[in-house]
Amino acid sequence: MGMSSIEVKKANQNSVLRYVLQQEEETKNSIAGALGLSIPTVTQCLKKLEDYGLVKETGSMQSIGGRKAIGYTCIKNAKAAIGVDITPNHVNIVVIDLAMQLLYSKRQNIRLYDDKASYDALRRVIEQALYESGVKKDSILGMGISLPTITDETGTRIFAMHEKMQISFGFYDTVKDWFDFPVIMRNDANCAAQAEMKARGETGNAVYFFISQSVGGAIVNHGKINPGESLREGEFGHMTLIPGPTGRPCFCGRRGCADAYLTTSILADAADGLLDKFFQELPEKEAYRALWEEYLQYLALAIHNLNMVFDRPLIIGGYLGEYIGSYTEELGKKIREMDPYLEDSSFVKPAVLKYEAAAMGAAAVFTEQYLNSL
Ligand SMILES: [Zn+2]
Repeated sequence: MGMSSIEVKKANQNSVLRYVLQQEEETKNSIAGALGLSIPTVTQCLKKLEDYGLVKETGSMQSIGGRKAIGYTCIKNAKAAIGVDITPNHVNIVVIDLAMQLLYSKRQNIRLYDDKASYDALRRVIEQALYESGVKKDSILGMGISLPTITDETGTRIFAMHEKMQISFGFYDTVKDWFDFPVIMRNDANCAAQAEMKARGETGNAVYFFISQSVGGAIVNHGKINPGESLREGEFGHMTLIPGPTGRPCFCGRRGCADAYLTTSILADAADGLLDKFFQELPEKEAYRALWEEYLQYLALAIHNLNMVFDRPLIIGGYLGEYIGSYTEELGKKIREMDPYLEDSSFVKPAVLKYEAAAMGAAAVFTEQYLNSL
């Protein structure tokens, strides 16, 4: 069945909005040309978007024929959303605009425990973010919270949580009363994957391998992530890497899980808990080199397995994504050694987004919802 004329109008308006959001300034002609729409259609869409307060005229632009044309630009911060990524050791807070650009980003060294004092501290840093970003309160669409947990589809219930997390399973009920805008919880790896795809402008297939203190991931089909039948799709951290009784114990109660071999805590713990220090001193320190060599071997094995199943680009994100760029050749060599048919390991890529990715993805739940609702 085809679309009704109302649906066509909505779809056109949405593509005009999404296009203008990614550009600095455009004319009706350039929008029509880029999207294959007629000038009257574009005019109608721009009019509607001006009514919503999302687009404005910027005066006249020089056009090729020497005639002046009116320019249009998107008011990207007409609406904004907050993202909070809670990890065992820190809290990353971002504020993004409708184009997913960062208006604010800060990492706070807060360890959250299930007590009033740390919840108060968290609320304060979120309020500080709201204030320092200069975003008007009534333009905030909502706050997305990313966590190393499995949450339900409604984003209000936690089913399972990483062992190092100390917050309560009823965390949502505490947080939702703090603010006058909606709050939602999401799995960190899925958030980071979604933000990464958006940042790459990627609508294809990929595997996103999220490697931080917790290990997880997402399977991306045509730029989209499915949660899976029981919300566990892409839980790469609990694939068995080393079977049998010699496998390292995992916090999930089993042995030999990828998480037990790939958590970045293994590297950080060797360097006074500082991952940054580990990578800074890695080129010189013999002990670090040995540990890294072993770590890379397990990472290569996990990637080899994922490649056998998915056969598509694999993006390494999370904390490791910030450092792996200098070691992709070393890693690629190990992956190639495991697969006699694999000649090229360039399918493995470091993420383009760094530590803010998960918080950005959580915030984007609201900006995407808003853009789709227009
Ligand atoms: Zn496990």
